[in-house]
Amino acid sequence: MTKGLDVTIWGTRGSMTALYHDRAEFGANTSCISAEWDNGIVIFDCGSGIRGFGLDLLKRNQIVNKKLHIFISHLHLDHIMGLPFFPIIYMKDWTIHFYGSSDENTTFKKALTEIMAPPYWPVALEHAGAEMHWHQVNSGDSFELPGSAVVRVLRANHPNSTVIYRLEIGDKHIVYGLDYEVTTECQSEYESFVKDSTMLFFDGMYTAEELPNYRGFGHSSWEQGIQIMESCNIDQLHITHHDWSRNDQALNSLEQKAKEMNDRCTFSREGMKIHFDTDK
Ligand SMILES: [Zn+2]
Ligand SMILES: [Zn+2]
Repeated sequence: MTKGLDVTIWGTRGSMTALYHDRAEFGANTSCISAEWDNGIVIFDCGSGIRGFGLDLLKRNQIVNKKLHIFISHLHLDHIMGLPFFPIIYMKDWTIHFYGSSDENTTFKKALTEIMAPPYWPVALEHAGAEMHWHQVNSGDSFELPGSAVVRVLRANHPNSTVIYRLEIGDKHIVYGLDYEVTTECQSEYESFVKDSTMLFFDGMYTAEELPNYRGFGHSSWEQGIQIMESCNIDQLHITHHDWSRNDQALNSLEQKAKEMNDRCTFSREGMKIHFDTDK
C-alpha cells in the first residue's frame, strides 16, 4: 500500500450477476468498491464482488490493523449477496463495523442478521467469528474514521430505505452515489451532496432513451451522470451498476459515446484500481 488513497472496483453489475463469456471485460459481480489508505479500509456494499476483496486481503501478510468499515447502501439482494462468501467475517482476529439505514418496519441489523442465518445460510452472521459492531445511519450523518477520514450520508431516491455515501480524506472526496434515480424533485439535493468531489461513482444503469420505461425503478442514465459531473465541478465520473444484460461490446460502445461527450467519464470495470495522492 502506497501513501495516499487506493480505490478498487470489485463488482460493477446491478440487480444480478452476469457471468457470461462476453462480459469478462466489465465483470460479472454485483456492487462492491473498496477504499484504502494507510490506516483505514472502507468497503461500499457487499455485492458478490466482495469475495474477491476478501481473498485479496487474506493474501497480504502486512495488515497491521485488522479493522474494516462496511457501508451498506441498502438491503436489496444485489448489494448484500456477497456477505456469506466474504472470508473475513469468519476470522476471529478481525473487527468489522457495519453501517446502514433502517426503515420503519425493521432495523438494518435485524434484517441483515435474519437473512444471513439458518435456514437461508448455515452459519449465523453474528456467530461467524469476526467481532462485529453495528451503526445505524441517517441522512445528514457523518462518521469519523482513522486518519481524519470522514464518511457522509445522504438518503437516496430508490425503493426502500437507501442511502449514498461520500468519503473524504484530505483533499480527495469519493462519492458512492449509485442506486439513485435523479429526478427534477431530488436533483438539487443530489448535486449539493456530490459537488466538488474528486470521483463520482454514478448509477448509469440505463440510457437516456431507455429511462422513461423505468421510472420509479430507482436508477439513472449515464447521460445524467455527465451532466452532473459538468455542473458540479467533479474531476472524474465512473458509470457503474451496469445492467447485467449488457455485454462488453454494448458497454464499450456506450462508453465511447460517453467519452465523446466528455472524456473524464469512464465505465467501471471489475478489477480497476485507482490511486490518489492525498494531502493528509
Ligand atoms: Zn442495486
Ligand atoms: Zn436497489
